[in-house]
Amino acid sequence: MVVNVNEYYENIQNNYLFVEIARRVEKYQEENPDADLIKMGIGDVTKPLVKSVIKAFHNAVDEMADADKFRGYGPEQGYDFLIEDVIENDFKPLGIELKNSEVFISDGAKCDTGNFQELFSQDNIIAVTDPVYPVYVDSNVMAGRSGKPTDDGFYENIVYLPCTAENNFVPELPKEDVDIIYLCYPNNPTGTTLTKDQLKVWVDYAHEKNALILFDAAYEAFISTENVPHSIYEIEGAKEVAVEFRSYSKTAGFTGTRCGYCVVPEEVYVKNSKGEDVQLNPLWNRRQSTKFNGASYPVQRAAQAIYTDEGKKEIRENLDYYLENAKVIRDSLEKIGLEVYGGVDSPYIWFKTPDDIDSWTFFDILLDQANVVSTPGAGFGPSGEGYIRLTAFNTYEKTVEAMERIKELKF
Ligand code: PLP
Repeated sequence: MVVNVNEYYENIQNNYLFVEIARRVEKYQEENPDADLIKMGIGDVTKPLVKSVIKAFHNAVDEMADADKFRGYGPEQGYDFLIEDVIENDFKPLGIELKNSEVFISDGAKCDTGNFQELFSQDNIIAVTDPVYPVYVDSNVMAGRSGKPTDDGFYENIVYLPCTAENNFVPELPKEDVDIIYLCYPNNPTGTTLTKDQLKVWVDYAHEKNALILFDAAYEAFISTENVPHSIYEIEGAKEVAVEFRSYSKTAGFTGTRCGYCVVPEEVYVKNSKGEDVQLNPLWNRRQSTKFNGASYPVQRAAQAIYTDEGKKEIRENLDYYLENAKVIRDSLEKIGLEVYGGVDSPYIWFKTPDDIDSWTFFDILLDQANVVSTPGAGFGPSGEGYIRLTAFNTYEKTVEAMERIKELKF
């Protein structure tokens, strides 16, 4: 007997980013036990679930203890009570009509964005913005769509769309034809957004080339600027060419509770091997019904609570708190002459290191001299070199303190 491993796993370039950050932080802390580190590296929320979410969560748990109300397996696609509130609250106000069967509740956007590529044949050409949320790339590597890694940090068969200060973080259309394009706005890691006109360029491109856009809107709730689309379906024609992913993780502090959803409009068609049209929605439904057994009932009730008046108000307070931190970071870094991006419609602030210092060296400077933990931009892809990401997910007091320390740095 020989058990052969999926050979494509051998192509995965281990993303040592957060492991390496943890290693350096641990070493520093061992050598400097009194250092008071302020962590602004990992993109995880710090505020607890809001009251109305907790109340709904508790009520649903109590129902599970009651023989008359107990629920076993639920629909793999999610309960209608949540799907209906999603459509009413997240899409109707934007003028977007959706059917219940077009919304799929899940346990988060990481799974959905990682799994969705399964529906496509191996020879599709994938395009990603660079820097990028690593899940889009790695899930395609595992599926055998990427080819081999190259020495300079890319993969042979993936098309990279650089997003840097030089193009104002607006990706240019690819020169070569691509089939599937991952777009994430507001963007992780750069914190930047696209306007409706800029996103329309991509929707038009997808129509022209018969391409598909996988649109990750995990940070939608942070948008405060007018004319920044909350959903790709605000763009005319998008329903035929785009799938959208949403997450309650950053919107409502569900990183540890796990819930999100994806929208697969009935209008999206792809081709089968005979060149015939195949509707995407039933394929995703089939995939989910086979491999996913639904997010838990209490979690879906907890998620539903964010759509009540009280819930909306409470999560808005948390989002505004993080956005205020983002503003503090932005303003402070700008004041000391750094080139700063993001942080307006996003909890992420992306800045250029001074004097072209490389990301990891500047990470060490921030750690050693300011005791601030950041994320080096190079960890998100080659075009992230020379940048640093800071997150707004700390307390206001710590955020202010971190900025005071960075102000004192000499570089
Ligand atoms: N998409 C992006 C762009 C993210 O940054 C993250 C989390 O950091 C996710 C998806 C994952 O979201 P979830 O917690 O819903 O799995």
